[in-house]
Amino acid sequence: CGIIGIVGKAQVTPRLMDGLRRLEYRGYDSAGLCTLVDGRLERRRSEGKLDNLAAVLADEPLPGDVGIAHTRWATHGAPTVGNAHPHIVDGVALVHNGIIENFRPLREEMQAEGRVFRSETDSEVVAHLVDHQLKLGKDPREAVAAVLPRLHGAFAITILFRDFPGILIGARMGAPLTLGYGDDETYLGSDALALAALTQRIAYLDEGDWAVISRDGADIYDRDNNKVDRPVVLSGASS
Ligand code: GLU
Repeated sequence: CGIIGIVGKAQVTPRLMDGLRRLEYRGYDSAGLCTLVDGRLERRRSEGKLDNLAAVLADEPLPGDVGIAHTRWATHGAPTVGNAHPHIVDGVALVHNGIIENFRPLREEMQAEGRVFRSETDSEVVAHLVDHQLKLGKDPREAVAAVLPRLHGAFAITILFRDFPGILIGARMGAPLTLGYGDDETYLGSDALALAALTQRIAYLDEGDWAVISRDGADIYDRDNNKVDRPVVLSGASS
């Protein structure tokens, strides 16, 4: 239901949690986040309110300068910890808003490759598809470009890659996703409000757009994989 991602120059967990709190108004049943810690994808998830996730983090803090976070409103699979996002498949961590309508045939295809699913969500298959492309030798950009045309439905996704620590990739179709430009940092959020404490410099992705973000900024592509520019606007400039 809510997404936030940060490629930063300082610890991201407190800021990811702040972003999730700004998205609480959308409603949710569980939440989670994932960062890169010493070259590993590390994740914390919980059912229910963000206070539960904060309690998990108090017990087991999550350092790291790059991360993604999610509040889930379950559509496929009960609101359990195991179905909470991010979903991790080897070196790929993914958060997803919306619904992948054709997840069943895609999941069967991935299961036929010998892949084992750990959740009941429609979302997990996207992490498998991207990981599958990486294992075929593609880089993250090529992998995502190969997977996106296969997804039907309404979605916004953001992906963190264990072996490519300086980037996140976000994509949208039928659900919003916003880019934020900081000072030596770059952000993705399911709306500008999620990014309000981080930056006012926002670019709205168009339908079908996807973006590779790094600390230097963002490369944005349209659904035909043409590199495009989306205007940077000032959010909340009047407040
Ligand atoms: N369909 C996904 C799920 O049930 C994502 C739901 C959402 O937008 O939070 O896990």
